[in-house]
Amino acid sequence: MNRGTGMNREPPGMAVHEARMRLALRQAKLAAEAGEVPVGAVVYNGGELAGQAWNQTRMLKDPTAHAEMLAITQAASAAGDWRLVDSILYVTKEPCPMCAGAIVLARIPLVVWGMSDPQRGGAVSRFQILQTAELNHRSEVLTGVLEAECTALIKDFFKKRRLESKNDEDFE
Ligand SMILES: [Zn+2]
Repeated sequence: MNRGTGMNREPPGMAVHEARMRLALRQAKLAAEAGEVPVGAVVYNGGELAGQAWNQTRMLKDPTAHAEMLAITQAASAAGDWRLVDSILYVTKEPCPMCAGAIVLARIPLVVWGMSDPQRGGAVSRFQILQTAELNHRSEVLTGVLEAECTALIKDFFKKRRLESKNDEDFE
């Protein structure tokens, strides 16, 4: 399958995508254990694992500390290049508008996620930032990879929060 990503090797098949998403899920579970909204992300650059992170907004008191932002920063730092033109980002939930903006700026050719976010998704669901002709880069997307597991993590987290009568607004 040719995704037109400019990658000079066979694009990974679904089994590879799922294996990498499992690493993102592992990151998301670390977030849940730390009381953060359980989203995890990994970046493969040149076919190698180059970044992995979980959402740390509360811990770092930083609204930009989403899993994708941290993983992209790691991958760019490892590459010594802000352009990640031979990379794939895996994330358990559809990127928000901020992260989608960073993905465009990093020129990441393919973004793979599990759970889509019809209410706030910044990639394609609510805002189509990854596929806006006026921006200088468009990313291919592959959605629904290990969707059930990714969705269950988020749902369980907020269900538990509600049982503890904590305010979900803390987690916007
Ligand atoms: Zn985000």
